[in-house]
Amino acid sequence: MSKDVPGLIDTDAYSAQLRSRAIDVAGGRILVTNFLGTGQERDLTEPANCAGFGRVRHFRRTTSSGWPPNPLPIDPACGSLGLERTDILRAQVFQNSACNWRCWYCFVPFNLLSANPKHAEMLTPSRLIDLYLDEPDRPRVIDLTGGQPDLVPEWVPWTMRELRAHGIEKEIYLWSDDNLSNDYFWRYLTDDDRLLIAEYPNYGRVCCFKGFDAESFSFNTLADPSLFDRQFELMGRLLGVGFDIYAYVTFTSPSSEGLRDKVARFVDRLQALDPNLPLRTVPLEVQVFSPVASRLDEVKTAALDVQHSVTEAWLRELDNRFPDTLRRMRIDEVPLQGRSKRAPRDGY
Ligand code: SF4
Repeated sequence: MSKDVPGLIDTDAYSAQLRSRAIDVAGGRILVTNFLGTGQERDLTEPANCAGFGRVRHFRRTTSSGWPPNPLPIDPACGSLGLERTDILRAQVFQNSACNWRCWYCFVPFNLLSANPKHAEMLTPSRLIDLYLDEPDRPRVIDLTGGQPDLVPEWVPWTMRELRAHGIEKEIYLWSDDNLSNDYFWRYLTDDDRLLIAEYPNYGRVCCFKGFDAESFSFNTLADPSLFDRQFELMGRLLGVGFDIYAYVTFTSPSSEGLRDKVARFVDRLQALDPNLPLRTVPLEVQVFSPVASRLDEVKTAALDVQHSVTEAWLRELDNRFPDTLRRMRIDEVPLQGRSKRAPRDGY
């Protein structure tokens, strides 16, 4: 729990504790979830694959009525691999077994987020890629998800080296996500790791804003509200690295007051990082998957409605700020100022 606010997570202490259990740096191994026999397995539409360590996910562009479409990672992957645009994309998912936050809407059962060895095993990326290559009809997209993959940021460059060693780096698109909670990308990766990520041809990352103000952020994650500011600091640093980068945002909030102003301030903050960042930011609709139902109370149930009002304010804000030509652009073609491939340097 937070040393400052009872009931909130002490994110830095918990992150360090989870990392110590979720990676074996000397052995090059990551603690990866095995879905067999877990609560999450029951929610899978296809049986787990890769000896239980993988699952195939269908990313869909279409969302529920009135909600903006979700082109991630469909458009970046198709653009990068030279594939025709599609509305459904199959991806091979691997999930690390640790997350430092506890979003009430998370579709992963919390017992799969605590680096729990009962449902996970230390594996090298080499072993994971071998399992993947053994699969028939394997997707051309690999998604390293969580959990919070950036508690163990080595996972991405280690996987890149493995794909390169197999000579398949140009056929496979690698996607990972990041909850913007820690600076481990700079603290634990080497300059060579960061250079590899910046220059890797088929890689994209999505970073998740867990609310549109400090109140909604803390309500959603159980983290200290001050860490909402840190999400922007980290996003700014990642934008400077120069790889292909996107954002998600969740709009659930305990309050429905002053939404228009709050959303305008949120968009201001995104634009302070990059003028076009809002156009690379996708609102994610919170839906009630089975682990979520038992976490709902009156305020959270109301927050599911609030997210729709926030989305309306978001769409109005984008309409006011961007010309149609930019609004209609494919998400992976929206230019970012820092999106020039370059070597990491001190201060990244
Ligand atoms: S940060 Fe992501 S993985 Fe962690 S609890 Fe929130 S939604 Fe789940």
